[in-house]
Formats: sequence, structure tokens, C-alpha cells
Amino acid sequence: MVWTTSDKVDFIQRVFGSGKLAHNGRDVAVRCPICDPKDKTKKKLAIRVSDDFTHCWVCGFKSRTLAPLIRKYGTQSLMLEYRERFMPEDPYASGSRCRFIGIEEEVRAVRLPTDFKLLVLASDVDPDVRATRRYLTSRGLTEDDLWFYKIGVSNEFRWRRRAIVPSFNASGALNFFVARAIDKDRKPKYDNPDVDRVPIIFNELNVDWTKRVVLCEGAFDAFKCGDNAVPMLGSDLNEQSALFNSIVAHGTPVAIALDGDMWDTKTPRLASKLAEYDIHVDIVDTRRLGDPGSVNKEEFKRALENATEFTWLGSFLTKLNRASRTKMRV
Ligand SMILES: [Zn+2]
Repeated sequence: MVWTTSDKVDFIQRVFGSGKLAHNGRDVAVRCPICDPKDKTKKKLAIRVSDDFTHCWVCGFKSRTLAPLIRKYGTQSLMLEYRERFMPEDPYASGSRCRFIGIEEEVRAVRLPTDFKLLVLASDVDPDVRATRRYLTSRGLTEDDLWFYKIGVSNEFRWRRRAIVPSFNASGALNFFVARAIDKDRKPKYDNPDVDRVPIIFNELNVDWTKRVVLCEGAFDAFKCGDNAVPMLGSDLNEQSALFNSIVAHGTPVAIALDGDMWDTKTPRLASKLAEYDIHVDIVDTRRLGDPGSVNKEEFKRALENATEFTWLGSFLTKLNRASRTKMRV
């Protein structure tokens, strides 16, 4: 990464038009392409030259790289140049200090419960261990899966009788975990450490950004969705999240496999959001599957093979269709 401040400022101006250096001497303020103010002299998008933390004072947009904005509002050659010359290497590294302009925040290090044990190595004498194994087997996980995903258990009150699935960042450091209750009535069903999820890409260690990534809702869905699946840890994907930014920055094609009941709502919304950034989006029809976590890997593989490409026309026709169906019902 060899560039000078003036190289970077020059690049920013080629993307966003002329800018002015802020009083603090660290940020360049440019016109925000999202707000797109009529008054062209309004420069409210602050970009910190040293590490690309970006914040718009008007619309509130925040990002840790310039990738989303260049992808959406710039050209392909600017994107390429950004990736090759300027993009920060690991803006979301766990333990590193992540600062939005004006807002200081630290990525808190996540630790596993102190008595965490890999399930494959835990003693069978413990009835909770046996129950956790039974639960995971009933959800279709094999011993290989337990090794591969490093699923474990703990006897700490909060994490007891939960299958703990750790997550590792690109450099192999723990960045998160989810703990799924094995008992039906336990609340919450999923628990996790109390940290900000925005900078977390669940098990990024296993992700190949050059290949199509399957986006699903939870870790238990990801187990069934093939080698290159990332759970969003919810049914929404925040545009400011590390996951969204990485997809956009790498131009990674995506297959969306949310739960079947999201078919008419969050699935098309997420697809359009990604397509706006020029991302190739395929949609997996999960309506018959329910959620990907409830089927086996083979069934999901078949559904993935039959995934259809998201197109604006298709999405328009679906909406039209739905509107006319609604009308008929009235
Ligand atoms: Zn803005």
C-alpha cells in the first residue's frame, strides 16, 4: 500500500468531485452522492484520508471503506483502482480500534466461556454433553461438522445446555459466537456475547470472496448451505455492516437463502439492495424448505442449483402479480 495523502485526496476527488480539507486536517469533505444535495457546494460527506472512515452529517451514512459508495456511484475502473491501491487491508479486524469520525468506539474482544470444551472431546459422563450431542444429531449434524465448526459446550449458567458455535475472522481469531438452546422452551433461543455485530462476518475464515456466497439467516442454516455460506445473524443485512461492505468491495456474487416465510418481503428487499450495488444476485426458493437449517445438505444443494437470477423486471412483475392478487381478494 504505497500512496501519499495527495494521491488519496486526488483519488477521492476523482470519485466524488472537488472536496475541501476539514479544519482537523484529517478529513476531506465532499458532496454526498446519497443525499445528492441540490446545492452543489454542500459538502457533508466526511472521509478520513488515512483510513477511509466515512460519515455523512446529513443522511447519517457510515462506512469503514469507500467500497460501497464507489461501487454504487463510481465506475468499475475506479473500483478496481481503489481495491488495488487504497482499500484498507482489514478495516474490521477484531481488537483493532474502529473509529467513525467523531465517534470513538473500540471493537471489544470476544472470549469464549472459560470452561468451553469442544463437544467432540467433552466427556460423555456429563448428561448435558449427551443431550447437546443428541440435539445436534437430530438437526442433521455429523461428527465431521462438529469438528469443522468447532462446536462446544460450557457449564456457565448463561451458556449451559446450549450448543456454542464459535466464529473466526479472516486471520483466525475468535470474533463472535452463537449459543443455541437445546431445550425447546428456553429463552432466548439464540444467545450471543453482547458486542456490536456490525463489524462481524461470521466465520469469515471459511469464506472465499471470489466465489458465490450463500447468505442465510442463522448459523444453523449455514451448516446446510454449503462451503461458502455466511449467516447474517438475522434476516436483515445492514449496508454499513462488514459483510455488506465485503461483498460489495469484492464484487462477490451472492445467492440469497433466507427462511421461506421471507420470500415476499425481506428476500426481494435484500436482493434489490445488493443489485443496486451491481452485485449479481441469485435467489434460492426456500418456500418448500421452510428454513435452510431444517433440511439436509443434499436437499439444499438441489435448491441452490435451481436458484434463479434476480432481475429488476422479474421483481417488478412479481410485485404487479401480487398487487393484482390482492385486488382480486377484495
Ligand atoms: Zn448523505
